[in-house]
Amino acid sequence: SVCLHCLTLWERTLIAVKPDGVHRRLVGQIIQRFEQRGFKLVGLKMLKVPEDLLTQHYCQLRSKPFFPRLLEYMSSGPVVAMVWEGHKVVQASRVMVGHTNPAEAQAGTVRGDFSVLIIYRNVVHASDSLEGAQREIQLWFTGKELVNWDCCDQSFTCE
Ligand code: ADP
Repeated sequence: SVCLHCLTLWERTLIAVKPDGVHRRLVGQIIQRFEQRGFKLVGLKMLKVPEDLLTQHYCQLRSKPFFPRLLEYMSSGPVVAMVWEGHKVVQASRVMVGHTNPAEAQAGTVRGDFSVLIIYRNVVHASDSLEGAQREIQLWFTGKELVNWDCCDQSFTCE
């Protein structure tokens, strides 16, 4: 939705620290990047992702040769799932996260800075479109798990 006063384009996106990111204790640094960028955390939980959630989440990839390996990787430990809200957060998060293949991810991106160079172990997930974000947030979170709150920043950005 758009704020008619400050023209902020409010969006929400799903960000998930994948099992390698949790194992390597990168959760805090990843959260810090999204906070510093000015986004608002509205949902957060840690879980071992059930297989049916993974197959639904990655349903567009189910015919890919790497799909079984992807499921195995995503089941190899807990995941920290988050919903972040803010101005054009979907596209901004994709830029912050970087290229799917860590070898091609730019320095300064989460994957560029933290990945080891194995394509499927790329530390973090970020929704790739507004529609994708809405679909994924509904899959991963119930309405009650998402918290509406006013961040004090809004008093600066929107009079
Ligand atoms: P992204 O996560 O950047 O949106 P995709 O949706 O294309 O990328 O792929 C989902 C996940 O599947 C990737 O993040 C990565 O973990 C894994 N993956 C993608 N491509 C490959 C590949 N060629 N080989 C192994 N794993 C892959």
